[in-house]
Amino acid sequence: MPKVTKVVLTLLKSMEETMRAADGVGLAAPQVGESLRVCLALVNGKVTPLINPKITSRSREKAFDEEGCLSLPKVWLQIPRSTEITLKYTDTAGKTQERKLTDFSARVVQHEVDHLEGILIVDYVTA
Ligand SMILES: [Zn+2]
Repeated sequence: MPKVTKVVLTLLKSMEETMRAADGVGLAAPQVGESLRVCLALVNGKVTPLINPKITSRSREKAFDEEGCLSLPKVWLQIPRSTEITLKYTDTAGKTQERKLTDFSARVVQHEVDHLEGILIVDYVTA
């Protein structure tokens, strides 16, 4: 479980630059070669660093929408996601946060937390 160390904060800063340069809405540490449970996600319009994020509940109701991924250029897929989630994470000040997220924010966070579990959008496509 990563603590909010200088290493983590520096990583988040460089990840934010990478994400903004690529016009992304999220980026997870494994995508930049770091196996830490750390990611960035656009939450309610704000780039939010999530340290050790955990989705503690997911609505049964799901919606499909098109998703891309900075790790998979030019791939766009319809992915089903819960429309409402509860997210627990540590913020950059070391505080535990718990937030209820809906729709687009919930989708982005589910995508990024998937990266921390080694799951990519192509894994949702069943042959
Ligand atoms: Zn991705």
